[in-house]
Amino acid sequence: MSARLASEGPRRLRLLIGGKWRESESHDLHPTFNPAEGRAMAAVPFSTKEEVYQTVGAADDAFGPWSSMPITERIQFLFRMKEVLENHAQELATLNTENHGKTLEESRGDVRRTIENVESAISIAYTLAKGTSLDEIASGIDELMVREPLGVFAIICPFNFPIMIPFWFLPYALVLGDTVVVKPSEITPVPMQRVAELLQEEVKLPPGVLNLVHGGAEVVETLIGLPATKGVTFVGSTAVARRVYRLAGENGKRAIVNGGAKNNIVVMPDADLGRSIPSIVSSFFGNTGQRCLAGANLVSVRGDGELLKKFSKASSSLRVGNGMSPTTEMGPMVTMAAKERVLSYVQKGIDEGGKLVVDGRHAAVEEFPEGFYLGSTIFDDVSSSMSLARDEIFGPLASVLHVETLDEALDVVNHGTNYGNMASIFTSSGKAAREFKRRANAGNIGINIGVAAPSAFYPFGGMKDSFFGVLHPQADTVDFFTDKKIVLSRW
Ligand code: NAD
Repeated sequence: MSARLASEGPRRLRLLIGGKWRESESHDLHPTFNPAEGRAMAAVPFSTKEEVYQTVGAADDAFGPWSSMPITERIQFLFRMKEVLENHAQELATLNTENHGKTLEESRGDVRRTIENVESAISIAYTLAKGTSLDEIASGIDELMVREPLGVFAIICPFNFPIMIPFWFLPYALVLGDTVVVKPSEITPVPMQRVAELLQEEVKLPPGVLNLVHGGAEVVETLIGLPATKGVTFVGSTAVARRVYRLAGENGKRAIVNGGAKNNIVVMPDADLGRSIPSIVSSFFGNTGQRCLAGANLVSVRGDGELLKKFSKASSSLRVGNGMSPTTEMGPMVTMAAKERVLSYVQKGIDEGGKLVVDGRHAAVEEFPEGFYLGSTIFDDVSSSMSLARDEIFGPLASVLHVETLDEALDVVNHGTNYGNMASIFTSSGKAAREFKRRANAGNIGINIGVAAPSAFYPFGGMKDSFFGVLHPQADTVDFFTDKKIVLSRW
């Protein structure tokens, strides 16, 4: 579908319900774009309520046979999933870039982490899916704990990792015996639609085990409200995360809910800038700043001007362009609305007295005049009370704050905002790094690492307004997607 979609112009995306691809009955159509070219690449039908009912019904029907299939047989589907994703990795990375805008190299990284989550789910199925037992806990009595799958799970996705984030959950749910309904972001639904086609046609998942609907708030609310839905995973902005967490609670559903971010990168005076700058630049401007682990505030501890000079120089020389071009280092924003949002923050920063030292507002790419481009933008002398330092902006905009001590830097990290997704420190002092690791209230910590992205076989962290729930995405989901049954027996 990828090449065809690109060449034949807008077409309607379809729904996958009970193993069959269907045109939606909906007249509520929204365009999804190729942001590098600024043109619509498909129309997204927001599924009707009836279609959501049918989808959850199909997933519920599939649950019985799927959950009673021996786990060793379910694991074979995941081995095939890995093979199919590997075989189509280039095609999927291309679609990811066409719909999201990030560079092809970044998309290849997304696909790699997607596959790593399949591998991680396989390893979990062979190890952590087991229960425990203890003989003779009392005279003649044995006790054991078994894990059981629960039923249908809804997987609600954000726009910024169209394939990878669904795979923080999907392979674990399936291998453990649950069935799923995936709702991609309405902004970037095309790559996941192609993945669902591959899982259906080449992996040959049984009908109803994986289903796909499109839409926004109403579809999400309907999915969570249906009795057959046993739980929901959500990744997106904090405002929506709170709402989804509340809805899940009201409906008695399990929930893993990841929210937004505003990440601080602390640079100590003893940091090796030669090694640090490339990592810091990639943290702020990789994925065009549209990453929940992106640096947003650069907190310089007793900086002597060298850090800002080097950071500005490296950032302003990044080549902005179509992510499909091998020379592009930063792709466009995902939508015009996202670009305008960043522009409004640049204006706010100027109005609030920030010093604009790198101005990316007028970045343009000659061959693609309609593309949603922005260049890297840096404000110096930002104070922690300014909206630049506090709000999640989600674009290529860096705010530089100056402090005198590590304590002050930790104060910015812990109290500057209520987000707690990631915090990083660049230093050559083990003592400072240890202090930072212990005291920073963030779920993912980087030490001389700009994007502290946990491997698939670790939980993906998050604290405060960046995370609602107990169990985290990736490997942690074994406890989320299964229930525990305790059996006491005497013969
Ligand atoms: P978003 O909150 O706008 O949308 C996320 C999902 O929620 C979409 O599928 C959308 O259709 C749905 N949705 C929108 N409004 C809704 C409502 N009122 N009720 C129910 N569902 C609704 O997020 P986005 O713009 O797609 O993604 C970017 C955000 O995601 C950023 O805030 C980023 O920090 C966050 N994010 C967080 C993590 C993490 O691990 N913490 C990872 C990636 C992205």
